Amino acid sequence: MHILVSNDDGVYAPGIAALAEAMLPFGQVTVIAPRENRSAIGHRKTMHKPLRIDPASSFPIKGVAAFATSESPSDCVAVALLGFIKEPVDLVVSGINRGANMGQDLTYSGTVSAAFEAVIWHKPAIAFSLVDFSEDADYGPAAAIARQIVGLGLYRNLPPLTLLNVNVPPLPLAQIKGFKIVRQGLRTYNDALISRMDPYGRPYYWIGGEAPSGDMTEEGTDLWATHNGYVSLTPIHLDMTSYALMRDLQAAGVEHLVPGQ
Ligand code: MN
Repeated sequence: MHILVSNDDGVYAPGIAALAEAMLPFGQVTVIAPRENRSAIGHRKTMHKPLRIDPASSFPIKGVAAFATSESPSDCVAVALLGFIKEPVDLVVSGINRGANMGQDLTYSGTVSAAFEAVIWHKPAIAFSLVDFSEDADYGPAAAIARQIVGLGLYRNLPPLTLLNVNVPPLPLAQIKGFKIVRQGLRTYNDALISRMDPYGRPYYWIGGEAPSGDMTEEGTDLWATHNGYVSLTPIHLDMTSYALMRDLQAAGVEHLVPGQ
């Protein structure tokens, strides 16, 4: 088995080293990740400038081929699957992200977008995130969970355009209560627009504010599960169609309209 590992925190982040090491028992592991932190870069495809790929010679895990790219996590997966990796790739794992990727975070997340890119190229993919944004977070428990989930082979039965999004609560393994299969919850973003003056008297803007919060009380969501000490597993489908609204629009007769009248 050949496993591709990527992330959005950068190739030298502790989470990706923990994940790459956790994948080693399953076979060959190749790491291709951004050179720098690309968190919240979304599903970016770099089209208007060249991509650079260099060996990540200081990658801390032995037995892993590691590369650093100049661009986004989804670019890393695309270049790997389009031929930078010569051998077939059987599974793409992304993470372990520093901080949660739950609810509407998925639209921002480079970690999850790396997994989106994989399923677009018909490869099974799992995104892993640790619900802990602190500098000294312990990735050990989340790495053990990642090894357990990949070892179970759940990725083999994923339908087309579907990935698995996993969030691990910030607890020692013995205190993690179990696993919950859950839907995306509802995030609240506490962003604030910071406006200051540059040295030349022109205003500049920076989106700051507090970390996102959200509804931890609605049962059956990723926010609820991790808040209560469970690992959350959420199957994510790339079909973003609202089927309910399709039916409403059809019922409203939109398809019988004469264009322009
Ligand atoms: Mn990140």
